[in-house]
Amino acid sequence: MPSRHTRYLVTCCSETTQGSPLSPILYIFFNAGLVEEIIDDKQGAIGFVDDYTRWVVSDTIDQNMDILQSEVIPRALNWAAGSGATFEDNKTTLIHFIREAQLKKMPHPLQALRVGAACVPPSRSTKVLGVTLDSQLTFKEHLAQATHKAWHRVRMLSRLRGLRPGTVRQLYQSFVLSGLDYAASAWYARYLSRSTPMFMRRLVMPIERYAAKVITNCFRTVSHEAACAEAGISHSASRLATRIWKFWIDIHTLPRHHLIRKCLLQDADTPSILAHRGPTTHIAIAFGGCLTGVEVIEAFTIAPWESNTRSAIHITDDREASTKQCTNAQGKELQLFTDASRRNGLTGYSVVVWMEGQAKSWRQRTIGKADQVTVHAAELAAIMEAVDGAAFALTRTSTWRSATVYSDSKSALQVIANLGQRSGQRMVRRVHEVIRDSRRKGHRIRIAWVPGHHNIAGNEKAHQLAVETTTPERAVTLVPWLNVVFKTAALRRPPETQGKIQMERPWKTGKHLHQVDAALPGTHVRGLYDKLTRREAQVLAQLRTGHSRLRGFLAKLGIEDSPACDCGERVETVRHFLLHCPRYQSLRSEMMEEAQDRYGDMSYMLGGRSQNRRPDGSWIDGPKASWRPNVKIVQAVIRYAIATGRLISSPRNTDAAGGGGSR
Ligand SMILES: [Zn+2]
Repeated sequence: MPSRHTRYLVTCCSETTQGSPLSPILYIFFNAGLVEEIIDDKQGAIGFVDDYTRWVVSDTIDQNMDILQSEVIPRALNWAAGSGATFEDNKTTLIHFIREAQLKKMPHPLQALRVGAACVPPSRSTKVLGVTLDSQLTFKEHLAQATHKAWHRVRMLSRLRGLRPGTVRQLYQSFVLSGLDYAASAWYARYLSRSTPMFMRRLVMPIERYAAKVITNCFRTVSHEAACAEAGISHSASRLATRIWKFWIDIHTLPRHHLIRKCLLQDADTPSILAHRGPTTHIAIAFGGCLTGVEVIEAFTIAPWESNTRSAIHITDDREASTKQCTNAQGKELQLFTDASRRNGLTGYSVVVWMEGQAKSWRQRTIGKADQVTVHAAELAAIMEAVDGAAFALTRTSTWRSATVYSDSKSALQVIANLGQRSGQRMVRRVHEVIRDSRRKGHRIRIAWVPGHHNIAGNEKAHQLAVETTTPERAVTLVPWLNVVFKTAALRRPPETQGKIQMERPWKTGKHLHQVDAALPGTHVRGLYDKLTRREAQVLAQLRTGHSRLRGFLAKLGIEDSPACDCGERVETVRHFLLHCPRYQSLRSEMMEEAQDRYGDMSYMLGGRSQNRRPDGSWIDGPKASWRPNVKIVQAVIRYAIATGRLISSPRNTDAAGGGGSR
């Protein structure tokens, strides 16, 4: 072996570079002696990095044990002695796969395997790649371990001080949920089309509830559903369904010859009796069968040995420089502009050929319904068509030697430049192929970013033409290269619209919160809470949920004797505190000014969607799809509430209500 390569070997096999992309490849060589065996219906072996699995099949357990003990183990030990590897006793497990009827006839205790000096008895559960498999495949043990870990982590979240709600939620998702949801496609698949079983609810729901309370700092008395909705975190049922939906799309984007795709999707569609269904069959049943027409995303966009054409893509952050470069190049190169549009439920794009200060020719395409083709795919398609057109034009004319395609979509250009495993890969590949072919002919094609709405005439024209493609009456023309389901578009479809997904039923608890905000559960709460400090979040949560330090609520819990306000009002409610209590009249001017004619509308003032209608029957907050809360008035309300000092915990009554601040 050349010394240059041995140096690589040494650095990659040392502990510090375990994450190196080379180490799994080197492991294949290292493990080869152990794994290299015929796989048939009697025996086989597989290795995954440092995991080694060996199996034998025969008529009886005794025969199996004989083969394992007399042939397999000596061979493995031989390999270990020769290669310097060791088998760890506590990580070596023995599993018998037998029919349930035979299980009863099995002698107890079962014979153990001897591996060197160690003794390995058969086990009821074992860990494979981080998932604990139990003998009944209920995954109860796995979930118990996963929730145990998640509890440990979610408690850590509550100990972090000074974090804003948005940061806490992000930590919860990346730090707690990533571990809890790991391998959900294996253990949750069978519950996708059913309601979540009780044992799972008992394990998972308290974690969600706890996290929701840490995020908004609301009272412990707020119901589970209300707390989750307020914190902007989704229920385990919908969260896991979304996760498995993503997994399902991911397998479908693998190339057809890919081993994982073959193994997982092979029999997924064939119905089998319940007891024999594997996770992918359960998923296929839940999502209404395997997906068809999903785009294939290959391991690489351009083969490593092909010449690099990335240098043809120019992206800069300097708006002025790129504008100047574009205008200066006029007349010296062939210029093309592209743009895409998505509105009125349609997606379309335009390509403009720009010469001598005017549009020489153009193409407009309305390529699909907005829920099938994303604007990102349209931008890529436009650039692809422009590059194609430019290459063709350069071969037909002797005037130009070079051409530049200008687009104002930075994200599309980044996808073209980065060559990753991204949606729309086929179009990206085509762009690079055309650029490469043109280079061989002595032509130069560039793709450059220009800022949108920056008075570049060609860009403005492309924009105007693209917008025209999505006027309501436009008919969709089918374009062959867009006739696939893009991964980005598929991901956007909510899983509950697929097949028979069982989501949690709408919740009925949290009456006050329902009255304040008719748009829950929704993502708008993130906009309300995320930038607040913990104290501000605590105040807002009290006002919105109604679970507050006000006497009206404390009297219900039996903490205060009377619900009456100090001013003499019979019940101290959120409404009274916010709008009417004469004790704080002097503090209300900012709120009044901000709320204008909607002063007194509690939903509006607390960032919720109002249930009120105008006299003509339309919603007072306008259509649901375009509604957004007014963050300014909410902030004014929070400032008012803090100024009164009424909702902030003082050392004396911190524990009285079991408030969020008293953890
Ligand atoms: Zn009062």
